[in-house]
Amino acid sequence: MDPILSYLRGRAAAIVETIRQFAECESPSDDPAAVGRFVELVSDRAAPFARVKTYPGGRFGKHVVCEMRLPGRRKIGQILALGHSDTVWPMGTLRGMPFRQEKGRLWGPGVLDMKAGIAFFLFAAEALRELEMPARSKVLLQLNSDEEVGSLSSRPLTEKNAARSKAVLVLEPGTGLEGKLKTARKGVGDFTIRVSGKASHAGVDFQAGASAVVELARQIGRVAGFTNPARGITVNPGVIAGGTRSNVVAAEAHAVVDIRVLRLKDAAGLEKKFRGLKPFDRRCRIEVTGGLNRPPMERSAGIARLCRMAQKLARELGVELEESQTGGGSDGNFTAALGVPTLDGLGGVGEGGHAAHESILIDRMADRTALIAKLLAAL
Ligand SMILES: [Zn+2]
Repeated sequence: MDPILSYLRGRAAAIVETIRQFAECESPSDDPAAVGRFVELVSDRAAPFARVKTYPGGRFGKHVVCEMRLPGRRKIGQILALGHSDTVWPMGTLRGMPFRQEKGRLWGPGVLDMKAGIAFFLFAAEALRELEMPARSKVLLQLNSDEEVGSLSSRPLTEKNAARSKAVLVLEPGTGLEGKLKTARKGVGDFTIRVSGKASHAGVDFQAGASAVVELARQIGRVAGFTNPARGITVNPGVIAGGTRSNVVAAEAHAVVDIRVLRLKDAAGLEKKFRGLKPFDRRCRIEVTGGLNRPPMERSAGIARLCRMAQKLARELGVELEESQTGGGSDGNFTAALGVPTLDGLGGVGEGGHAAHESILIDRMADRTALIAKLLAAL
């Protein structure tokens, strides 16, 4: 058996224990103190073999960057391992959804997205040190505190560290129960459409009113038509609100619309269409705000090369890894858009991210961790 894999199989109990500690330290994006406690926990774990530095996250928790001390004298270039410390789960979720080990899986809030991935990285670093396997490059681990809410505060730090790196390894979960690698992600954005009409009494003075609700309904039909499945473009009016009472012609209405694109150039076209929306009823006014938050991670030649390398290393571990694309965004979108080869989906294998059945497969912990270690040694 591969020596890294056999070492990590022997560490299975310790990996489970670390994931338990991480999951039981709840860290919702909107609770900076809670995220801070989790960041401290990870920092304490990394401190014996890393130089740890934190960065203010504004109204979010701290971001943390660990410069790992790994074997190997001369380091050429830099690798960035990227993850996030926040989860979508509110404080107190553990009471109804406790961490547990059953049916060959670990269950609990954040285990898959993405506390397992962080634990895997730390054990991959430990394996390289214990087995004295040199890493060729300087390795940074960066954990952002606001990934689940758009990465507004962490994006500049991510881009700064990525721009200096020859590759980015994203510790997000793999796709499906096979744990496929992720080599493309859609770009994500949202638009808010606000319609102002003219209020009036629905019985006494109906004709004098210009209904913002009716106008918005027609606009929604129009923007929903921008969806183009063949090009990977989706437009989802996910939130709609407006009006005050049924007997009043509505003066105000708004909708929030999620957009996803596979190609950056499609985002510009979509933006133009949204900005160009004209009222059907000339008495109404339309205001559109928003745009693309995350550019798409497009599968470049560099990404494909990195993926082939990972597949070859996985084969040495006895695992056939396929690649996949997803509609969900990650911080890998930013790094790939800078042209830095980015491989995503290296974290836990499981299902139910953001859902009550969130879980990871225990028997895939060792090979995932070994793959991260092998990538750190090879890159
Ligand atoms: Zn995630």
